[in-house]
Parts: sequence; C-alpha cells; structure tokens
Amino acid sequence: TDLDETIDRLVRPIADWPEPGVTFRDITPLLGDADALSAVVDGMVELAEKVGPVDTVLGIEARGFILGPAIAVRIGAGFVPIRKAGKLPSTSLSTSYDLEYGSATLEMHVDAMVRGARVLVVDDVLATGGTMAAAADLVAQAGGVVAGNLVMIEISSLGGVQRLEPIGCAALRTY
Ligand code: IMP
Repeated sequence: TDLDETIDRLVRPIADWPEPGVTFRDITPLLGDADALSAVVDGMVELAEKVGPVDTVLGIEARGFILGPAIAVRIGAGFVPIRKAGKLPSTSLSTSYDLEYGSATLEMHVDAMVRGARVLVVDDVLATGGTMAAAADLVAQAGGVVAGNLVMIEISSLGGVQRLEPIGCAALRTY
C-alpha cells in the first residue's frame, strides 16, 4: 500500500547502532515529513479503533511519547507515560526486564489509572516484546487491563507478537 511505501522510504535503517550487530530503525525522517506523520497517525488510529473502548493510552519512553499522545487525542483517551527509572516525580510502580540490547527498569505512577481501566500500549517499534511485556506488568500492578498493544513497526523475526499472546500486538508495517 501507499502507507507501506511511505514507511519503507522514510524509516532509515542504521547499521550497528547502538551496538555492533543491531540494525536500528530510525523513524525521525518519517516524523519530520508532515504528510507521512499524518498518514501514520491515521493508520495507527484505525488499528486502535479495532481494540474497542480505551480509557488510557500508555506510551513508553521515549518514542512512545511521540506517537502515543497523537493517538490518544484522536480516540478520546487520556495519556499515561511509562518512564525509565528515576524520572517520575511521584510514588511509582516499577518493573525490570531484558531488552534487545541490555536491560532496563520502567516505572509508572501508582495512581496513573483507575482500577479496571482499559489500556492501549503504544510504541514505535516492537522487537523482542520485552518492553511491551514490561508495560503489561505495570498495568497489571495498577489493576488495569491491557486491551491492546500497538506499534508502527514490528520486527517479526524477534518473536515479539508471540511473546505478547494472547493479546498480541497490532503493527502498521512488519519487517
Ligand atoms: P523490545 O523490548 O525488544 O521489543 O524493543 C522495543 C523497544 O526498543 C521499544 O521501546 C523501541 O522504541 C526500542 N527499539 C528496539 N529496536 C528499535 C529500532 O530498531 N528502532 C527504534 N526503536 C527500537
């Protein structure tokens, strides 16, 4: 489709970054293109609407903060940030996990959502699924429900969608 072509043209593969052997998909050329940004947000909103009612869009630092709020505004949901350790000012829940390169701790404010809230987790790229799984752990700790996971790009060879079963993860473009 046109949208696939746009993503292929404007997401730039960076070889051996941030480490040798890793090819990083850099979305900044796409974000800088007005038509492409609009088309990607439209496409992700369409996928978000298939999830059903959503109270809260949850975005993961840092690139989930770019796409998440754009989608939240469009679907009439609030936005909650998940941040790396030590960044949030108030009492927080915490979870640690392994990722494609290294390990990390993610945090979310303990009062970020009401119990039973239906949550859509948004990020730019799904690789191993470790980050999305960590987000699901924080949602569970807060008493919320992950209604869906959504990314712009899925790297299918890394098995992230399988790891996130039964909910899985919707993606605009799969490589
Ligand atoms: P995972 O936890 O292995 O699924 O990795 C996904 C997380 O790492 C997301 O927060 C992404 O933003 C980031 N990430 C991993 N690979 C890439 C990439 O190629 N481009 C941009 N972000 C990436």
